[in-house]
Amino acid sequence: MNKVSRNKRLNPPYHGGCECGAIRYTVSAAPIVIYACHCTICQTQSGSAFGMAMRISAESFSLTKGTLKTFRRVADSGQVFTNSFCPYCGTRIHHRADRTPGQISLKPGTLDNSSWLRPSHHVFLRSAQTWVVIPDDALRFETVPENRAWLRGE
Ligand SMILES: [Zn+2]
Ligand SMILES: [Zn+2]
Repeated sequence: MNKVSRNKRLNPPYHGGCECGAIRYTVSAAPIVIYACHCTICQTQSGSAFGMAMRISAESFSLTKGTLKTFRRVADSGQVFTNSFCPYCGTRIHHRADRTPGQISLKPGTLDNSSWLRPSHHVFLRSAQTWVVIPDDALRFETVPENRAWLRGE
């Protein structure tokens, strides 16, 4: 049994890495926001029902082992994303939007201890898989909140 009580935010630093172990990283600051995205791209990327993102400041992230490979994707909105993953096992570690260069969206399932994660926001619920049940205390959005303040932790 994990000693960390569930849903209690863990204090930084956090450590994590990819599936094969070639990539290791450390995060030195607490997250800005943790959310789940149910868009079809996140479903494809994760190979699962939704993607999780932990917004952190770019300077709080340090790679301690390995070198990430990247690819860039232009979204329908015109926004450009740089997606970083392990070159050996393909595990996505994070992405960064050109619009917000000071922030990284870490894939928090890659943390060594993911037991404390709890998304406060669920976005793109219009494409959520039908079996997914959203907790009552989470904020829900058919697409994304109009006001981008939530991505700054406001
Ligand atoms: Zn790997
Ligand atoms: Zn998404």
